[in-house]
Amino acid sequence: MIATDKKILRMCVDAMFIAIIALFSFIPNLGFITIGPISFTTIHLIVLVGAFLFGIIEGTIFGLAFGLCSLFKALTMPASVVDYLFVNPLISVLPRVVFGLLAGILFQVIRNKVHNKVGFSVLSGVLSGLLTLLHTAMVIPLLYAFMPDQDTTFFAVISAIFTLNCVVEISLAVVLVPLISIPLLKPASRLRLKMKKGKKISMKKVPTFIEEQEENMLDALSKLIAIPSVYDPSSVSDAHPYGKKVSDALIFLKEEALRLGFDKATIYDNRVLEIDVGGKGELIGIFAHVDVVSADGEWHHPPFSLSRVDNLIYGRGVIDDKGPLVALMYVLKVLKEQNKIKNHKIRLVIGGDEERGSSCLKYYFETLGKEQPQYAFTPDADFPLIYSEKGILHFYLSLETHLKNVSSIEAGNAFNICIDKAIVKLNDEDEKFIKFLDEKNIEYSSLDNKTILFLGKASHGSLPLLGKNAFLIAINAIGEYYDELDLKELYSLLADQEGKGLDIYVHDEELGATSLNIGLATFKDDNITIGIDYRHPHLINYDQIVKNIKKHRRFIYKEDSYAPPLYIDPNGSLVKTLLDAYKNVSGQKDIKPLAIGGGTYAKEVKNCVAFGPALPDKDYRMHGADEVYDIEEMKQAMHIYYEALLKLLDL
Ligand SMILES: [Zn+2]
Repeated sequence: MIATDKKILRMCVDAMFIAIIALFSFIPNLGFITIGPISFTTIHLIVLVGAFLFGIIEGTIFGLAFGLCSLFKALTMPASVVDYLFVNPLISVLPRVVFGLLAGILFQVIRNKVHNKVGFSVLSGVLSGLLTLLHTAMVIPLLYAFMPDQDTTFFAVISAIFTLNCVVEISLAVVLVPLISIPLLKPASRLRLKMKKGKKISMKKVPTFIEEQEENMLDALSKLIAIPSVYDPSSVSDAHPYGKKVSDALIFLKEEALRLGFDKATIYDNRVLEIDVGGKGELIGIFAHVDVVSADGEWHHPPFSLSRVDNLIYGRGVIDDKGPLVALMYVLKVLKEQNKIKNHKIRLVIGGDEERGSSCLKYYFETLGKEQPQYAFTPDADFPLIYSEKGILHFYLSLETHLKNVSSIEAGNAFNICIDKAIVKLNDEDEKFIKFLDEKNIEYSSLDNKTILFLGKASHGSLPLLGKNAFLIAINAIGEYYDELDLKELYSLLADQEGKGLDIYVHDEELGATSLNIGLATFKDDNITIGIDYRHPHLINYDQIVKNIKKHRRFIYKEDSYAPPLYIDPNGSLVKTLLDAYKNVSGQKDIKPLAIGGGTYAKEVKNCVAFGPALPDKDYRMHGADEVYDIEEMKQAMHIYYEALLKLLDL
């Protein structure tokens, strides 16, 4: 089931706002209030609140509603001497539309740019006042311009009245708009449709035989999203090495593969599913993963159920990597039905443990000794294609330490996600510490008198600078307030998220700087242990890295996993062939292959590059809340994969 509830709900809210504007316009002394010589409106407040909460489109619509209501009111029930002038839509409607539009634009800017709470409240009040002033300032010259006899005395009187009214209207806006809007921002954000647009690429028309797959493909994807295949230590056993749900997801895909008529589908020890799609000759491999990271952060859509709003689909895994994986199954189905798979064998390999460091593929190649492909790609990163990737080291640092008033810290779920929540338990309740957090503007919530939840922002572990690490925020605050020297030292080693503190920072032209993400952290029984995801370009090697980290001798180093950097010849036939397919469908002729920090399966496989599906400059919130993918884009990706596989089959 795919829900379009968000759009419908939003239309209801829009209708409600318009109804309120109409009620305020026509019920006496509600929207237009007269007290003695002053006659002011309150409807601008509704438009401002609507623009504040929802942005440009709503701001404009509500401004238009305000204008049209004023026009009808002037036509049907003129109340004052100037009302006859408001029969002209240039006076009654136009300034109000401009007012709503501008409010939408400006509020959107401060909503996105101003993060300080006090600053935000003050600025939104000031902005509401200025917009109200501007509204009147637009009306007065228009009134003069359209006044039949241009009577200056009459105009002076009207201007004076308007100015007086405007003072009241501004005062109301300054106080009431922030007061009403700010508490509603959070619930309203659920209705805001958002996805960073990225650069417009004019893709070729998707062929009908791919369009036709949409319904069945989305149906399979929604069933797969509904299986929360996150690594689950509580259900790990010999039979389920990554937990029960990952096994369930592999089994579901095996059944789907057999249903689609592929030749062979085999699950190896609930770690890897291998699907063979026929053909003879050299092996073409496609490597995807069915495990997903946990659904941290604040979701506005249920993470483990596919939601659809227009062309956007939401859910954990829609783009990383369940969506691309199902899309490729349907591309293979088309190729098979068209009888194109002859010259090579195509093998789709689906792993269950990519997110924790690809132990599934290590098992597949090293333990099972499976055949390495001649050509391979993994649909788990960016278009056009990635030929060079940073090396990735996952390691722990631990330290024995006693903290005066902290009994435990619990934070993070995976090496490669920036920690968005850290739970700190205190030995004794401490109001002064809470006050200190307030003074420092630290985001937290108290779970009880002794438990504090520090709040940050999740991001992919390869881009820790895009997140806000809640654990770093917590140890910085505790270290400073309780003067904990060990925490201060720890903070100074880890606060730089490019690794400068640990002396492992380098920067190269191709892959950029090193990155350091804290993804796991616990403190209990006087021991603090931190799990770190560190990524590096070719300029520094494994031995140097480990040596430099170990220089900080008070901390015990323990390695979890290491994958060296990847480099595939950008002039080789694999890169050229895949790039050609992308260029052909996207029309982007001068595009170059990429070098990135994200670690993909490409590192685990010979002759493998990462190929799609993310388009340049778009934010799909991979690993974050409200992971999102565009269905049209998904079909375009299928088109590219189809072309690419056709070309590979011809090599
Ligand atoms: Zn992935």
